[in-house]
Amino acid sequence: MILPKLSNEERVRYDRQIGPGVLSEEGQRRLKGSTALVTRVGGLGGPAALSLAMAGVGTIIIAHGGELESPDMNRQLLGSEAGVGMPRADQFARYLRAMSRFVSVEVIDHEPDDEEADILARRVDIILSCPADFEHRLRLNRAAYDAGIPFIDAAQWGMAGSLFVCDGKDSPCLACAYPEEPPFEARFPVVGAIAATMGNLAALEAIKILGRAGIPSWGRLLVVDGFRGEMSQVRLWKRADCPVCGAPPATGAKIMTSSPSTRTLGV
Ligand SMILES: [Zn+2]
Repeated sequence: MILPKLSNEERVRYDRQIGPGVLSEEGQRRLKGSTALVTRVGGLGGPAALSLAMAGVGTIIIAHGGELESPDMNRQLLGSEAGVGMPRADQFARYLRAMSRFVSVEVIDHEPDDEEADILARRVDIILSCPADFEHRLRLNRAAYDAGIPFIDAAQWGMAGSLFVCDGKDSPCLACAYPEEPPFEARFPVVGAIAATMGNLAALEAIKILGRAGIPSWGRLLVVDGFRGEMSQVRLWKRADCPVCGAPPATGAKIMTSSPSTRTLGV
């Protein structure tokens, strides 16, 4: 990648995140030169996209279909009262653009199908997967792995959330954890605070990966049980028979089980 230069205005804007313990100037330039896909941009993906925009990720593609509804407004913080009843994607993009003049925001007004996911995965540097249902999450996981790019999956249910980070090469993928689509309830309980928490943790991992800072949580599943005030992290292992990343049998692949409560986490 030929790294873009930072303008003086950008150096001023990002002054608090360049230095020891955060990003190098080269890392900030890497963010500027990066493209991230965030789909969807509701309770999880909205805060994730906002944090990417404010951190200076140069191009952010957001994908989300449908219209903003009143029940969305307990967590979809890119929306507004004035936007209820209107298509989500365009108004969410306007919000992001209003929050930073240094980034470009592109809009897809639906969730990508298989073909579109493959095209997008070859164009972007990272995918943040924030859909509610496993069909879309596993589709994005496969597209990212086939393209060899990092993939971050955030999910939630009620006051609990999960975060999984895959490098698209050596680490296990989401299909290793969910070889079959678990049962999914379309309308599940959700509190906005946990959505924003998991979305921002997803953005932080993306910033670390794109900016080459810190230690990404490759192959690890973080589970935040906000209801009980507990957190845990488990390392996942490649499944030898994974249909996506299919590790060679010689690795002695095995899978660590995750909490049953994580199996139905959605957006
Ligand atoms: Zn896999």
